[in-house]
Amino acid sequence: MVERKLKARFFDESNFIQLFLRGYETQTIFFGKEYEFEETETTVLDVKTEIHERLRIPLDKFLLLYQNQVLDGENENKTLRQCGISDNSTIYMCLKLLGGARLSFYIILLNDEIKQVYIDSKLKVAELKTKIAQSKKVPELRRAKLTIEDIELDDNLTFEQLGIQDDSVIAYEEVTLFDVDGVSVSFAPDMISYDDSQEARAEMPCGHFISKDSMASYLISEAMDSKLSIHCPGVDMQNKKCGAEWDINLCKKIAMLTREENDKLEATMAKTLFYQQIDGRECPFCKTFYIRQKGSKNIRMNCPVCKSKGKSSEFCYLCLRKWQKKEGVGEGYCGHDQCSGSFKEVSILQVCGVINIQGVGQVPSIRACTVCFALIEHNQGCKHMTCKNKHEFCFICLNPWRGHNNSTCAVAPRQVLQQ
Ligand SMILES: [Zn+2]
Ligand SMILES: [Zn+2]
Ligand SMILES: [Zn+2]
Ligand SMILES: [Zn+2]
Ligand SMILES: [Zn+2]
Repeated sequence: MVERKLKARFFDESNFIQLFLRGYETQTIFFGKEYEFEETETTVLDVKTEIHERLRIPLDKFLLLYQNQVLDGENENKTLRQCGISDNSTIYMCLKLLGGARLSFYIILLNDEIKQVYIDSKLKVAELKTKIAQSKKVPELRRAKLTIEDIELDDNLTFEQLGIQDDSVIAYEEVTLFDVDGVSVSFAPDMISYDDSQEARAEMPCGHFISKDSMASYLISEAMDSKLSIHCPGVDMQNKKCGAEWDINLCKKIAMLTREENDKLEATMAKTLFYQQIDGRECPFCKTFYIRQKGSKNIRMNCPVCKSKGKSSEFCYLCLRKWQKKEGVGEGYCGHDQCSGSFKEVSILQVCGVINIQGVGQVPSIRACTVCFALIEHNQGCKHMTCKNKHEFCFICLNPWRGHNNSTCAVAPRQVLQQ
């Protein structure tokens, strides 16, 4: 301001005009000659810029009014004279509000680009994250966080609940293992990908290191592989596998699974537990899950859910078809062909033909599932069989598919089932 006054002395001060500004609180704000407003030179935008510097209001958040004119848009480039503004004129300013519950703030993206966003303040933090991820303007992150001054914003709260103010600056960043409580972190190389870049990796209790992305893909692939416990895949100098069992909840914490990944993991593991571990079944009609009472040998099942609806509810425990009686087949035996629960049909295992599977000959074409004894005829495909009760085994050696060893796989003899 002092500088301005000094400079002004060398000019003919009478060229400068003074203006009054109203519309901000109840004040009349005076702009004296030291502002060097000049009728034919100074534009509306120049005046706005001075107001912006004095009142700290962003330029695009207010406009000026003079007499019958709104000095917005194109009019901002007009000179004061073109608007008819002269010495001692009073102009009015008015703030532009978005109305509603809209918020405007700035987001610093990963590439340090700053973007202004306008959102409904009722939006949840998680919803804004999804919008940013979908905008494709940023690299895809498995887990992202929004922070203000290094404090992470809670996904489940709205911007209103968080009290975020207009013009706040929010950072969009990747969540790292440093953000996870109870995990010791290091920059040691990843035991799966051997990646040794400067990334935080978790130190597992067995001493091996793993990044969150490696952990996520390992967890999901193990679950898809019917595993119910997670073991360290690390190897030592002598190429000996570590194999230490890891706490699955610790693994999940480190993997920072997305909602979809977590759903997939839970569903896959629950199915493994249900089909492989406790030998559960689905009702063939209504798909309700159940297990047979311990010690029961009955194969004639009655689904209580279907029964309560007056629908067909009886089915065979072994072949999962609607319960059927057959002439000459004893009470309690399944009346369907090709079911090991059918008294007469088990001999099929002894008399069926032989086939060639993947170069291995003399394999009986019909086998009984090694868990539930459901009969399966090999029509096509490889030796990896899944029975209708989802038990997986090798059609050639009859060993469970889990842990199947190709080097010891040899044709198992025809099966003998006792009824
Ligand atoms: Zn280990
Ligand atoms: Zn049912
Ligand atoms: Zn049956
Ligand atoms: Zn089976
Ligand atoms: Zn085999």
